[in-house]
Amino acid sequence: MAALSLIRRELEEAAGRSGRLIDDISLMAVSKTQPYERLLDLYDEGQLLFGENRVQEAADKLPDDRPEGMKVHLIGHLQSNKAKRALTLFDQIDSVDSLRLAQILEKHLDRPYPILLQLKTSDEASKHGFADEDELLFALEAISSFRCLTVKGIMSIGPLTSEEFVTRKAFEQTRNLYHRAQELFPELNLDTLSMGMSGDFALAIAEGSTMVRIGTRMFGART
Ligand SMILES: *Cc1c(COP(=O)(O)O)cnc(C)c1O
Repeated sequence: MAALSLIRRELEEAAGRSGRLIDDISLMAVSKTQPYERLLDLYDEGQLLFGENRVQEAADKLPDDRPEGMKVHLIGHLQSNKAKRALTLFDQIDSVDSLRLAQILEKHLDRPYPILLQLKTSDEASKHGFADEDELLFALEAISSFRCLTVKGIMSIGPLTSEEFVTRKAFEQTRNLYHRAQELFPELNLDTLSMGMSGDFALAIAEGSTMVRIGTRMFGART
């Protein structure tokens, strides 16, 4: 698929413009609505990291035995009644948006399990995430004493806007929180700042993103 090498080149250019190294930014292929065969095609080209936003869809399309090294993260809102199922389906959950959900996940676990905490950076009703920095840090502190759940970093979704400065502000807010969390909890070795999608990944990279989540630009428009 030509799309993959094109995106890699665009990421590299965006990294270069911001004085950053492409190796410090991982590329997630957001494969929601795509059939499993498309994931396998990309995997054959060397793409290992995938993102899905619905538990039911992932359960329906992903086989239990996936090829070596393929990782699938949940990036959509998780309802607590699907928490247990999500833990068996996904290698990581990037969209943990409440302490209560974290507690429920922990209850079902007996092994280390990585998560990201999602910060809500806009008022859009459709968006999930911790409402503000303090709430997220409070949860982070609580989770840091859990036996199994391991917080790796923070995710946010850029606002629905064509105003660049609004998007940048949201990413800046997320990055500032990420740095504050790293300072407050050095022992956690937080290493993931997931932000940036097809329309705003260059701004996200300029603001320090270490993981971009690309869907339409990789697979074409979703139907
Ligand atoms: C769909 C989705 C993406 C990818 O969006 P595109 O604009 O298609 O790149 C990224 N992150 C989340 C949380 C999503 O739901």
